[in-house]
Amino acid sequence: VKQIGKPERAVVTTCAYCGVGCTFRAEMRGEQLVRMVPWKDGKANRGHSCVKGRFAWGYAHHQDRITTPMIRDAITDPWREVSWDEALAFTAGKLKAIRDRYGARALGGITSSRCTNEETFLVQKLVRAGFGSNNVDTCARVCHSPTGYGLKTTFGTPAGTQDFDSVMQADVILVIGANPTDAHPVFASRMKRRLRQGAKLIVIDPRRIDLVRSPHVEAAHHLALQPGTNVAVLTAMAHVIVTEGLVDEAFVRERCEVDAFEEWARFVAEERHSPEALEPVTRVPAADLRAAARLYATGGEGRSDVSRRPKVNAAIYYGLGVTEHSQGSSTVMAIANLAMATGNIGRPGVGVNPLRGQNNVQGSCDMGSFPHELSGYRHISDAATRALFEADWGVSLDPEPGLRIPNMLDAAIDGSFRAIYIQGEDILQSDPDTRHVAAGLAAMDCVIVHDLFLNETANYAHVFLPGSTFLEKDGTFTNAERRIQLVRKVMEPANGFADWQVTQALANALGLGWTYTHPSEIMDEIARLTPSFAGVSHARLDAEGSLQWPVDAAHPDGSPVMHVDHFVRGKGRFVVTDYVPTDEKTGPRFPLLLTTGRILSQYNVGAQTRRTANSVWHVEDVLEIHPADAENRGLKTGDWVRLASRKGETTLRAEVTDRVAPGVVYTTFHHPETQANVVTTEFSDWATNCPEYKVTAVQVTPSNGP
Ligand code: SF4
Repeated sequence: VKQIGKPERAVVTTCAYCGVGCTFRAEMRGEQLVRMVPWKDGKANRGHSCVKGRFAWGYAHHQDRITTPMIRDAITDPWREVSWDEALAFTAGKLKAIRDRYGARALGGITSSRCTNEETFLVQKLVRAGFGSNNVDTCARVCHSPTGYGLKTTFGTPAGTQDFDSVMQADVILVIGANPTDAHPVFASRMKRRLRQGAKLIVIDPRRIDLVRSPHVEAAHHLALQPGTNVAVLTAMAHVIVTEGLVDEAFVRERCEVDAFEEWARFVAEERHSPEALEPVTRVPAADLRAAARLYATGGEGRSDVSRRPKVNAAIYYGLGVTEHSQGSSTVMAIANLAMATGNIGRPGVGVNPLRGQNNVQGSCDMGSFPHELSGYRHISDAATRALFEADWGVSLDPEPGLRIPNMLDAAIDGSFRAIYIQGEDILQSDPDTRHVAAGLAAMDCVIVHDLFLNETANYAHVFLPGSTFLEKDGTFTNAERRIQLVRKVMEPANGFADWQVTQALANALGLGWTYTHPSEIMDEIARLTPSFAGVSHARLDAEGSLQWPVDAAHPDGSPVMHVDHFVRGKGRFVVTDYVPTDEKTGPRFPLLLTTGRILSQYNVGAQTRRTANSVWHVEDVLEIHPADAENRGLKTGDWVRLASRKGETTLRAEVTDRVAPGVVYTTFHHPETQANVVTTEFSDWATNCPEYKVTAVQVTPSNGP
């Protein structure tokens, strides 16, 4: 990292990469950021950081940043640089014309999980109050929307149950569909510290992630399941817990809906759900699965260990390997069922904890970015909730839920959806079935991209509004433990405006008359309209460092652990989750199953990390393939391969490794050249449409390269 000189001042702010939410001292010399130093008082990181937060900030100064608005009449025209006034007038004119001709429901928007709570809140307000529709969605659609559905259904609120410190009191840690050492490294360090102290680890993942075996840490059980069979594995674990008498009866009777529990218990106890019966489906040896279930439920080897309760704490941590499936929501509910059945809710060391991907994915969901919910997860069809917002905003709101991202694209292809405002999201690269995304975007009359760089989606845009980085704005992010933290402006925006100001300018070009002068005023509005944020203000966050929602009259200092005496919904609700095989099938033509993930130094589609000092750790996207499958195809590490599915094909290099099982291949998606999502399918979660990124039937053949 180039050192520019001794820092003259420092500003404490929050990392804009993952959901851990590390805080840093951004050290400045003049207007130049010199270095990012992990903040010792940061409640989420306590002075630690990973290479992304520490070194991957140079994109803020990168020559590829677009700082002047651009417009064009057709996507085949060249871009024309214009003033902000001209860009906003052009955009507002197009939006009004489309609304006049096709109605408000022809317009929509996508909020960004990279932007602040205040910016996200304004985008959904613009769509609902300005465009006049509920067609607003968030990139959480493609990652943790099943968490929202599953945890709200079972517990009553769609958020993780614990703070990060809680892991230090866990006796058993179950990690399913997550790779914390790469994707949430600072939290992974804390988890590993607890494992080195003696906590037992169960990993459920098709791939042998580093946590399974690393210095001083070894999983007691690694259940290397067949991709797409999470629900079957969890049902088999539940079968063991119920049939071997490992249920925490007192917890279930006091805290849960007993009728629903009994229905669930009868269902999982059926012989067809035993580990032995499901072994041909899951490919997990039944004996391993039985041992893992006993360990999770008792901390030991079975019934004789039950008497140790309540000393045994078992905590579940999960990631996108749970949610990005056609049964993503069912898997989240199956996890919640296990935690309730064993009494592992409502105290430190236990719980159900989604490891959120993006820095503010929790916040973007909290802020009303879903087409059916206003901020605080209140349904748009609820007249009393709508009336609250209508009185505050001075508009009438559409009572019907709007369209999700994939439905907006479908409607565009059908001709009924005509314009979209996309803030901080590259859906052409990050969403599945790239050809479908491109067809939807190409069919629209007005695509507005508000971003830092001319991303892949901008190829289909008519308006490009320059975005601002986290270093150039004030606001808040909410991390995976519901911790709200301040983002403080470190330098002036390269384009002259923070993202919230651009959204406000667009709203005012549409005649809305917004007058926010600082994001703290937007937070005051959020607190006024959102019960779980009632006690949150920038002044409090500045004084106290952070707050974990809900922050309300019952929890004036916030809530590190949720569902302590009762669930948010009252009684916990068990839900029967029947395993349904995915429609994506292997066969003679596509015999392997592809699953995807991330590496430590890069982030998602790499738009930011690839433009930073982290490029020194440049690692291509490669295809991991088991030695037996590689030998069958005459492949060795470094060879080019063609990866093809029913949807498309791409070319990348092979890495022969037994990290993956025979029949399974794995890749990352950090580079636009490889475009892994060209091959992913249109299948999605039955409840939320979260795409099934983690299961694609593919063929792998030798190639001469791209
Ligand atoms: Fe912390 Fe995540 Fe940022 Fe790394 S990427 S510094 S773990 S918030």
